[in-house]
Amino acid sequence: MTHITRRSFLKVAGGTAAVGAIGVPHIALGASKKVVVVGGGVGGATVAKYLRRADASIEVTLIEPNKHYYTCFMSNEVLGGERTMDSIKFDYSGLAKHGVKVVHDTVTGIDAAARKVTTAGGQTFGYDRCVVAPGIDFKWDAIGGYDEKAAEIMPHAWKAGPQTTILQKQLQDMKDGGTVIIAAPDNPFRCPPGPYERASQIAHYLKKHKPKSKVLILDAKDKFAKQGLFMAGWKKHYGDMIEWVGAAGGGKIESVDVASRSLQGAVEKYKGDVVNVIPPQKAGKIAHTAGLVNDKGWCPVNQGTFESTIHANIHVLGDASIAGEMPKSGYSANSQAKVCAAAVAALLNGMEAPVPAYVNTCYSLITPEHGISVAAVYQLVDGAITGVKGAGGLTPADASEEMLKREVAYAHSWFKNITADTFG
Ligand SMILES: Cc1cc2nc3c(=O)[nH]c(=O)nc-3n(C[C@H](O)[C@H](O)[C@H](O)COP(=O)(O)OP(=O)(O)OC[C@H]3O[C@@H](n4cnc5c(N)ncnc54)[C@H](O)[C@@H]3O)c2cc1C
Repeated sequence: MTHITRRSFLKVAGGTAAVGAIGVPHIALGASKKVVVVGGGVGGATVAKYLRRADASIEVTLIEPNKHYYTCFMSNEVLGGERTMDSIKFDYSGLAKHGVKVVHDTVTGIDAAARKVTTAGGQTFGYDRCVVAPGIDFKWDAIGGYDEKAAEIMPHAWKAGPQTTILQKQLQDMKDGGTVIIAAPDNPFRCPPGPYERASQIAHYLKKHKPKSKVLILDAKDKFAKQGLFMAGWKKHYGDMIEWVGAAGGGKIESVDVASRSLQGAVEKYKGDVVNVIPPQKAGKIAHTAGLVNDKGWCPVNQGTFESTIHANIHVLGDASIAGEMPKSGYSANSQAKVCAAAVAALLNGMEAPVPAYVNTCYSLITPEHGISVAAVYQLVDGAITGVKGAGGLTPADASEEMLKREVAYAHSWFKNITADTFG
């Protein structure tokens, strides 16, 4: 029985550009197609839902250990005192309504030859195609003394949830006049503007509650996303409260001492009252276990379908993948998931994957009335995801107060839309 029509296929490919050579579906009669999705974050949840929308005959099983997902996006606003943890908490009931089978377990192995996924709970799932979207893990050996135990005292808060709450509580408990240190990693890492939005939101909280305090950003690089806009916003709203030290100034952290809450840079030792260390990153652990990573710890893929270039029939998307010029963001993961769903549905039905198009916008909130954004549209050029010239852009440096305020409203409506699109 043919379950996918050209019309329904084009519907899912709607997020993509002109659909390429789609022939008459060629489907093995009665064959059931199975896709296992590993990870129920933005990328995994979106691909699971959009696969079912593309072809309701595909059996989609999503495996995710947690019953709730806390979005990293807008978690900086929790630190700023502008929203609650509950407002960034989502569950998987919406996916079940689309016919996605959600299993709460941790994937411990993917056998590419046998096309089988195994879990910590002892379950095994066979697949025709597997989509892996495990997000990031940390390079725990990159900063001397900084390990999972140290992260309980010097939180990274780079995976939202309990880590966000630890950092929030430390900010609340800190004395007025204290120093908050944020150690930012070198590229590539999850959410390039994230550490600087975090500095803004923490400064917003401190200005209101502990105005004699300071935020010091120690950076492993010499420039960062939306730098000019951030720095102008900091000066305007927070004066000297935020200080940034780049790599050339000794900002790269070599080691930490948890007991004294201090960090050793190339030149100086820094001591903070609250220390937020964001360590260097790599693809989520399961991508390593399954042999899907390169020597840098990220997953090379066919950037048109997100199929791994190492193991056939396994696709990797979101932060774990190498996706050309796209930044590692939630919006990127959501956009890649739609491209991947369209490709997987087509390939499982004996069709060619459609011509993809991708989009990303990253909003950053400097105050509740001052937002900035960067937006881009991408296409596939010679196999690499490449920005389309003239599409997208940056908040202008001379934007009016009204426009900056509007950016905040856009950010909040983007949050409502993307979470509904992913989990609804
Ligand atoms: C402070 C901060 C602010 C941010 N702000 C923005 C923003 O404004 N806009 C934006 O677009 N992006 C933002 N991001 C980035 C965004 O959160 C990530 O890019 C996005 O979550 C990536 O999606 P993903 O699906 O690849 O990974 P994740 O969302 O991390 O999902 C991975 C999932 O896989 C699961 N998993 C891992 N291993 C296994 C396994 N072995 N078995 C089963 N499941 C597994 C995890 O439990 C998790 O649920 C921000 C990030 C941070 C840290």
